[in-house]
Amino acid sequence: MNSAVDPLSYDLDGVRDRALRERGGAVDDSIPELADADPDLLGIALVTLDGETRETAQAGMQISIQSAVKPFLFALALQDHGAAALDRLGIEPTGEAFDAIKLESGTGRPPNPMVNAGALLTSALVDGADAAARSRRILAGLSAFAGRDLSVSESVAESEHLLGDRNHALAHLMRSEGTLQVGADEAVAVYARACAVLVDARDLAAMGATLAAGGRNPLTGVEVVGADVARDVVSVMATCGVYDGSGRWMRQVGVPAKSSVSGAIVLAAPAALGAAVVSPPLDEQGTSVRGHHVSEVLSRELGLHAFAMP
Ligand code: GLU
Repeated sequence: MNSAVDPLSYDLDGVRDRALRERGGAVDDSIPELADADPDLLGIALVTLDGETRETAQAGMQISIQSAVKPFLFALALQDHGAAALDRLGIEPTGEAFDAIKLESGTGRPPNPMVNAGALLTSALVDGADAAARSRRILAGLSAFAGRDLSVSESVAESEHLLGDRNHALAHLMRSEGTLQVGADEAVAVYARACAVLVDARDLAAMGATLAAGGRNPLTGVEVVGADVARDVVSVMATCGVYDGSGRWMRQVGVPAKSSVSGAIVLAAPAALGAAVVSPPLDEQGTSVRGHHVSEVLSRELGLHAFAMP
């Protein structure tokens, strides 16, 4: 890490106070539970690779993980299927919205694991004889990444399943292309449950730190996934993690990350630290406005940009 400031003595509360003045963006209203989010919620957390943590007020406030789950579904699919999982989906950025009804031309595969088509597929690739077993494996895997037992919001899972029309459309499209091998409704149900896992900024920072550390959770010492898996996941976060805002993100922040409609951003700065910001108001690309701002500040002040020049 090309660190200008030691993360352990960093004034994270000062960053939070300044970011709270930022007022742009709108809370997602795709399901009632997200529409009810507090627009003034702002939690920030850091976890270093030595397992030291730093956090602000509200770092323990829970939200549904939503698309911040996608890197971890990809990790579990890679862990369970090895490189064969990479034959089943692409890894190229789309330049399109997260829920675009579009598959890779010629192959019918999802374009990458960070958009909805890809996450529907990776959640179907996780080991398990049926939907319930796959959901259990996903919850256990996410808990290992976070270093504590996580739980699912049943009401968010139900709303995501009932109201996720574009996810149903994508699952049927992948069935018709022969790329999704479980039932379309089952795939949507498992993905909806994964999106409904409750986390806070502290959990997400630990999850990011586990990837940044090469798959070993720095808080628990447990090897959650192999180093090759962590490297593959972080690489795809860097190119595809912020959807059609990924290019702007890499220029301005330069840290592999994943955004989500609940306003969470999980960051994995390889060999440096994991970080997370939770703040519900989103920009047009579905990225938390304050989350983007805080990530940019952290990257600059902690020297985390992947392409920072000496
Ligand atoms: N649950 C959302 C969906 O699948 C996740 C989207 C996101 O967080 O970007 O529509």
